[in-house]
Order: sequence, then structure tokens, then C-alpha cells
Amino acid sequence: MTNHLFEGLARAAEPEAPWLHLPDGTTWTYGDMVERSARMARALTKLGLKPGDRVAAQIEKSPEALILYLGTVRAGGAFLPLNTGYTPAEIDYFIGDAQPALFVVDPAARDALMPTAASHGARVETLDRNGSGSLAKLADEEAADTFSDVPRGPDDLAAILYTSGTTGRSKGAMTTHDNLLSNARALAECWHFTRDDRLIHALPIFHTHGLFVATNTVLVSGASMIFQAKFDAGDVLAAMPRATSLMGVPTFYVRLLQHPGLTREATAHMRLFVSGSAPLLAETHRAFEAKTGHRILERYGMTETNMITSNPYEGDRVPGAVGFPLPGIRVRVADPETGAPIPEGEVGMIEVKGPNVFSGYWRMPEKTKAEFRDDGFFVTGDLGKIDERGYVHIVGRGKDLVISGGYNVYPKEIEAEIDAMPGVHESAVIGVPHADFGEGVTAVVVREKGASIDEATVLAALSGRLAKFKQPKRVLFVDELPRNTMGKVQKNALRERYADLYAPKVG
Ligand code: ATP
Ligand code: MG
Repeated sequence: MTNHLFEGLARAAEPEAPWLHLPDGTTWTYGDMVERSARMARALTKLGLKPGDRVAAQIEKSPEALILYLGTVRAGGAFLPLNTGYTPAEIDYFIGDAQPALFVVDPAARDALMPTAASHGARVETLDRNGSGSLAKLADEEAADTFSDVPRGPDDLAAILYTSGTTGRSKGAMTTHDNLLSNARALAECWHFTRDDRLIHALPIFHTHGLFVATNTVLVSGASMIFQAKFDAGDVLAAMPRATSLMGVPTFYVRLLQHPGLTREATAHMRLFVSGSAPLLAETHRAFEAKTGHRILERYGMTETNMITSNPYEGDRVPGAVGFPLPGIRVRVADPETGAPIPEGEVGMIEVKGPNVFSGYWRMPEKTKAEFRDDGFFVTGDLGKIDERGYVHIVGRGKDLVISGGYNVYPKEIEAEIDAMPGVHESAVIGVPHADFGEGVTAVVVREKGASIDEATVLAALSGRLAKFKQPKRVLFVDELPRNTMGKVQKNALRERYADLYAPKVG
């Protein structure tokens, strides 16, 4: 048996070919990748890592962090990246939940995180973005040539990734070697990745998007990455003449559109712009096309399932739709309560089955059981529909659904109406407890710079366009919507903020 994931990812590797182009002008080749990850794997093994053990890491984005991911996989462990924004108190929860054998942190954070790690029995090592730290030192001392990968099969654990925590507490998604390899292959095929590709990588690497979608798709096709520590519209634009592709979240595209440097000429060398992780507004899609001539390719997936659908590479990339199921993946729309099939074209629960779907939630067997149907389909929690051409559309999250006066209200429909109004930048519609209606439909709106649109104007415009039960009871204005690092609107935070909006006034 080989190491299923690494063997598959490294198969295209030409030792002399570039893998990473770094901001300081240096290049790491595929040979470097293989050698460095072998040293890392040996160091991890020497520290006592056994197959199946978790290696948790809260470290800055760097080439070293990718080496830690690959080294962990080669040593037979499961990689567990943690959001660099988590506080020590949050980290305490994740380390307690995941029980890693090893916790890798930035040298500067070591003292603060030591007690947490110690209390959960995890050994602490350090690694920083410049390649120093105790773990880097151990890896440097190892030889690369005599290493053979720890054998792991398709169904063995490769990673535990915590979900983004948009709808509640983050859950650990147990992801196998074949979940990742099959998905990387499907994406490379659909998006036509070859050795000649240079992907601009400006995403964080503690989510499935930056760590797996971007990194694995590049590896499996032998392509290279222009590796940037974080997203900056100017830096991304500066890299475009040397690049072929960009993978981003919708916020990247909004920021690029605000930058004067975004032009047809500036993007002339690029062949592909991909968006995912959150809905791309049709308005952003159209504005980007008008400015650059490129149609952004939107795809859809989640931590638990990796990528599920993609708009076509050739063919119509439909604004507001997330495209077709990837090869080997089945998608259906079912009744959210019973799982029974529903008539074509109607909104229901998106369910998915395929080699991409995770093996379950870490230490949550009941929750895992509850989210799988008897025939093996995973219940995504996203509501959507499949149109007559077969395109999947995401309508919103199941947990987002507002039930007002007994009627189902899908926030996205109302948000689309409000977003299209002059003077509105964006909006989020939520349900807020309401004595008469159960939940009161409530719109939270961000104005365009300098605009003065008010509550009465929004309500008047909606009254002719939406059924009465869908109309917001209140429209509130804010400077910006609360978002997490992947650009997802945190509706939980909004629901909390406005929980008392309709509470009867006492006194
Ligand atoms: P949690 O599960 O902890 O509440 P989360 O669902 O936001 O957090 P992720 O797994 O990072 O955590 O995000 C997956 C979700 O992101 C999907 O279920 C879907 O709701 C949303 N999403 C991803 N891509 C798209 C897209 N192209 N359009 C609309 N929604 C998307
Ligand atoms: Mg989720």
C-alpha cells in the first residue's frame, strides 16, 4: 500500500518544475516540496506521531505551513489547521475536542498556548513563516533520501477541518485521503489545470478553499502558485501578468472592482477566475465581466463535502448559479423534513453523495447519523433548486429560513430585491423573534457610499414586488455586515444583535 493522497498529489511532480513563487523572488521546486515534506514527516515520526494522530497547527500562512500539511499526511497523521484569528479561549475548545498529539504554534504564541496544550496532553512545537522554530530545526536535521511514506489507504483520515462556524459552533469534519484526492482530480479536470498554470494563491490556508481546493488542485496537475501571505488587491493585480488563474472568495472580487488597476489589459494574461465559499452577487459577476471581459466561474462546496458543483469551463457561467455536479458526484434536492423527492425546479434541501463526502463529524456520532440519509446521501443544510438546464442554485441555508406567520421566507430572494435598489450596497435578511409572527422578517442594509436611501423607500419599493408575508417588518441600516475571514455574513451575530427588536416595550 502507498500513501494514497501524497502519491496521487505528487505523481505529476517534475523535480525541477516550480511549485511556489514567493514574494521575495525565490522559487521552491517540486523537488524541494518532496524533500522538505519528507524531512518534516521524519521529524514528526521521531516525535512519536502514529498513524491517525492529529497534528494541530495555528500558524501564519507560509510555505512551511504547507510543508507541515504534506509532511503530516506523509507521516500518516491527520492535519488540523486552526484559524489564526482564534483566541486562546477558542483554541482551548478545539484542542480539547481534537486531542492532537502535537500542536504547532508560532514561536511568539508559544507561552500563551502552552497551558492549554499541556492541559489536553498535546506536545507543543514551534514553526514560523521564515522556517525557524523548534519543529523546523528538527526537520532540518533529518535526511530526506531514505524516507518512505507511511502507507495509508483511500479511506484513512488525512485531515480534520473545522467548519467555519457560520450557523453555530464549528464541527470537525473528518476528511479522508480519497475525499481530497478525488476532489483535486475532479477540479483539475473541470478547470483544465496543466503544468503551465500559475495560480495566484491569496487565500488563508486554514479552510478547505485555500488548503485543499487551491493547493491540491495545483499539486495534482503539476502547476505552480504565486504565493501571497494575504489578499491585497494591489498585490494580486501586480501578479496577474505572470499568472494564469485566481481562486477567491466574493470579497476578493469586490475589492478588485474597487481598485483602479482592474482593467482588461491588467487581466489579459489570465485564463480563469474562480469564486466560492460564499454567494457571489450577480452584480459582482456582471461588473467584473464589464470591466475585464472575464466571466467569473462560481463553484460551490463545503468543509464536509469538499467541492460539489462548478459552473462549466466551456459553456455558460450563469450569474447566481453554482453550476453542475463535478464528475462522480450526485446531487439531488429533497424535502427538508422527510428527505422525499420533490418536484423538479422546486426549492428543497441539497443532498450529495460521492467520493468527496467526508466520513463524519469528529466525536459527534449522533450528529453524523442525523445528517446522512439511509441511502448514503449527505444533507448539506443548504436550500436550493436545480433548474431545467441542470444548473444548481443555492437559495440559502436551511438554518437561515425565516418562518413568519407560518410561511417559509427565503432571505436570499428578498436580499436580491434589496441589493438591486439604487443606493444599496448589500443586505442581509434575518428572522427576529416576534410575538405575532413567530419570526419577523428583518432587513439589515449597507448603503452605497454617499447614498441616503431610507427605510420607507426600501419598504415602498418592495411592496409592489414581494408578497406581503415576505416583506420586512423593519429595515435597519449599518455601516457594514459582520463577516468572518472567508467573507461569510455572520447572521448569528445579526440575530443576536437584534434579538429584542420586536420585544414588547416594558415600562
Ligand atoms: P458552519 O457549518 O460551521 O455553520 P459554514 O457552513 O459557513 O459554517 P463552510 O464549510 O466553510 O462552513 O462553508 C460551507 C457553506 O458555504 C456552504 O454550506 C454554503 O452555505 C456556503 N457556500 C459555499 N460556496 C457557496 C456558493 N458558491 N454560493 C452560496 N453559498 C456557498
Ligand atoms: Mg456548514
